[in-house]
Amino acid sequence: MTKEQSVELMTDKMAKFVAYVGKKLPDDVEAKLQELRQQETTPLATAIYDTMARNQKLAVDLNRPCCQDTGVLQFWVKCGVNFPLMGELEALLKEAVVRATFAAPLRHNSVETFDEVNTKRNVGKGTPTVFWDIVPDDDHCEIYTYMAGGGCTLPGKAMVLMPGMGYEGVTKFVLDQMTSYGLNACPPLLVGVGVATSVETAALLSKKALMRPLGSHNPNPRAAEMEKLLEDGINSIGLGPQGMSGKNSVMGVHIENTARHPSTIGVAVNVGCWSHRRGHVVFDKDLNATVTTHSGVQL
Ligand code: SF4
Repeated sequence: MTKEQSVELMTDKMAKFVAYVGKKLPDDVEAKLQELRQQETTPLATAIYDTMARNQKLAVDLNRPCCQDTGVLQFWVKCGVNFPLMGELEALLKEAVVRATFAAPLRHNSVETFDEVNTKRNVGKGTPTVFWDIVPDDDHCEIYTYMAGGGCTLPGKAMVLMPGMGYEGVTKFVLDQMTSYGLNACPPLLVGVGVATSVETAALLSKKALMRPLGSHNPNPRAAEMEKLLEDGINSIGLGPQGMSGKNSVMGVHIENTARHPSTIGVAVNVGCWSHRRGHVVFDKDLNATVTTHSGVQL
């Protein structure tokens, strides 16, 4: 295969994958929504969960996006230095988004800031956003595709706490944000929390936390305990499905962290909604694609 043929093949696969992610929720999110549905007893909460499930089925049956807001496309790329299309990746992901925009179709969500012009192709300056992790001695390329909708992006916030504010300060920051802006996203939410030194390190981690599978835990037992405590705390608000009240508010709370400067606690929160459209695909050097988030998908 020539380089051009390889680029075309991967672009086509990514365009199909992006379009698919907009229509079908990942397996873990579908399972979690069913689990939360079983815990509800009120007619309103159960009716909303049942409507969500019907919405999902219709999206697949009618081959349409499962939420009208298909978001701004974000890609988390973990790329081996020996992956053959590393240098072409950003351009081909952009082209894949354009193709998916017309094929899926996806809502036009890329407005050039300061010009206030919608490009109508879902691409623009810096969109789609591509975050990179480079892996030495490897020839695979893992790609997380994420659709950042407007509602689920609005509760995002980052700040740097005084060190004395401690873990209590982190808890207050997260709960203040959930009780004020949480409802801008459609619950049940997936809450990503980043704890690091500064606003940008914490913010990136808080979004990365949303890529983790539901039910996973931070490997540090204390951080994992804090995930559970935050989950219980946010659930006790009782947002319920679509914020109409219910037993739970969240599908989970994921904390990602780094070591930090002793004088600062950078903290950030990012939120995914019930329509948490993230997909994970792994390409080998021959461009065979394996989708891990959605069972039975061939690209
Ligand atoms: S918060 Fe999520 S489900 Fe609600 S409108 Fe936005 S993308 Fe759709």
